[in-house]
Amino acid sequence: IEMLRAVADQAAISISKAQLWEMAINDSLTGLHVRRYFMAKLQDEIHRTQRYKKSLSVVMGDLDKFKSINDNYGHTNGDNVLKAVGTYLQSSIRDVDSIGRYGGEEFIMFLPETGSAAAYILADRLRKGVAQLEVGNLPAVTISLGIATFPDDGKSIEELVQKADAALYAAKENGRDQVVIYNEDIPLPDNRELIT
Ligand code: GH3
Ligand code: MG
Ligand code: MG
Repeated sequence: IEMLRAVADQAAISISKAQLWEMAINDSLTGLHVRRYFMAKLQDEIHRTQRYKKSLSVVMGDLDKFKSINDNYGHTNGDNVLKAVGTYLQSSIRDVDSIGRYGGEEFIMFLPETGSAAAYILADRLRKGVAQLEVGNLPAVTISLGIATFPDDGKSIEELVQKADAALYAAKENGRDQVVIYNEDIPLPDNRELIT
């Protein structure tokens, strides 16, 4: 009995450690990776991509006029929409891709071995899918997305994320509900307000 108790104690410790780990790396509302863990995974993936001389795309998304959902239908409904969008995005990417909740209603993904043209096709499919989600009786939400690709747009994590964010901002400026691939004509964040 003593021995079984010791084994059970050890198992319980392992289980709570696994639960703590899961809570640390995944966001409680959406189940997506938290920003910090996503960025660590992205850094690893950039190293791998560089080593094997492949490409990789970073996609940032931000829900359009999301504040109005909260203002008109309340924060709980807003949370439900966020959760539904997160679940949809997660279920629509490949196993090798990764997705995180970057901020409030901002999402970030990386797509290994994916150039900007293929990333655009995926991002635009996600954009259309989000617009078709039904959450209760709430009005449809739309999402704007920006893409930056290793190594053409940058080789460091900072540069890639900054450029994906700049492309996302360009999508917002251009009228929202669209995907923009970063190009040299798009101003970088130093020259504009940061997306919140
Ligand atoms: P834009 O098209 O320019 O992105 O307009 P927006 O209203 O979406 O503006 P912005 O992205 O700056 O604002 C984000 C809003 O999202 C602010 C806040 O009301 C809402 N939001 C952020 N995080 C959460 C959350 O966890 N739950 C809920 N319900 N709302 C959130
Ligand atoms: Mg927004
Ligand atoms: Mg935002």
